[in-house]
Amino acid sequence: MANTIKIPGALDPHVHLRGMDWSHKGTFAGETAAALAGGYWAVLDMPNTPPETTSPQTLATKRAGLAAQAVCDWGVYFGGSQADNTAAYTPEVVSRVCGLKLYNNATTGALLIGDQATRARHYAAWPRTSRIAVHAESETVADILELVRAHRVPTHFCHISTAEEIRHLRAAKEAGLPVTVGVTPHHLFLTEADVAVLGALGRMKPELKTLADQDALWDAIASGVVDVVESDHAPHTLAEKASDRPPAGVPGLETTLPLLCTAVHDMRLTVERMIELVALRPQQIFGVRPGPETYTVIEMTPFTIERANLRTGCGWSPFEGMSVMGKVREVWVRGRRVFDGERVLAGPGSGQSLYGGAA
Ligand SMILES: [Zn+2]
Repeated sequence: MANTIKIPGALDPHVHLRGMDWSHKGTFAGETAAALAGGYWAVLDMPNTPPETTSPQTLATKRAGLAAQAVCDWGVYFGGSQADNTAAYTPEVVSRVCGLKLYNNATTGALLIGDQATRARHYAAWPRTSRIAVHAESETVADILELVRAHRVPTHFCHISTAEEIRHLRAAKEAGLPVTVGVTPHHLFLTEADVAVLGALGRMKPELKTLADQDALWDAIASGVVDVVESDHAPHTLAEKASDRPPAGVPGLETTLPLLCTAVHDMRLTVERMIELVALRPQQIFGVRPGPETYTVIEMTPFTIERANLRTGCGWSPFEGMSVMGKVREVWVRGRRVFDGERVLAGPGSGQSLYGGAA
């Protein structure tokens, strides 16, 4: 069929699954089902959901939960902490994780590392054969680039959101530093003007930016400075979002591919580039390959993003009401159809660990 797009092993390298201490927001089973329904073969889970993934014990807890419940393939990040935990734990954990995550600007949880000396110790301890993913905004980007220059650990810059950050990273790539760049669908399709309408449902870290910043992200996709589109899926309940101190974060697993397909339909993006951004580059950067017969079929048909269509435990989306193009019709993993456009057909625990075998 000419009006379908086939993606070989879509990988979202930036999600915050729910479960464990935050099971009221969602579960490993439910959010990985949302990943399959969103068209993804696999997801890489961030370390700041409590209990935070900062020790071999909490890593084992999370891996056991995913091994029992996940319906898509998965990997998890280890989280660097201010307590300088990686030097001692790296040999034990590095083969069981997709990489080390360092939070260098304010975010959810208690993993903020504010000082350059602690960051440098993490960089010194983590092997160049793996990779570090960083939350770094504005001037912090330059601080991290200094560490990449010194230690040469491949570094993925998550959810880059401003024109200024893109300028820094373009220069770093031109200088030959081992850096890659991710952007999110909310920064590509929403701006700070949307916060007036969305309120807390439009708040996340990094915050939504200006139209000029958004244009810079699209230019950087076209020029190749951006490597990956990552959802930064971070659902919170509507009650939490309505509270006096709403947590930052929005869901994204089920809306990223339709939004990008809409950009393809609108000729802002080629199909080839989209497949690089959501499958080929994430696979290369994070060192994994989908098994044979692992692919997603998307039909280029219009629909409106609505609460009733979402599987994520939080039940809402910042993109509600948007008309998009591109319905996920089938997801196949290793020759088995795991999503048929309506139902998730994979059972709990059928998702495989991408790093270090069974938990
Ligand atoms: Zn995140």
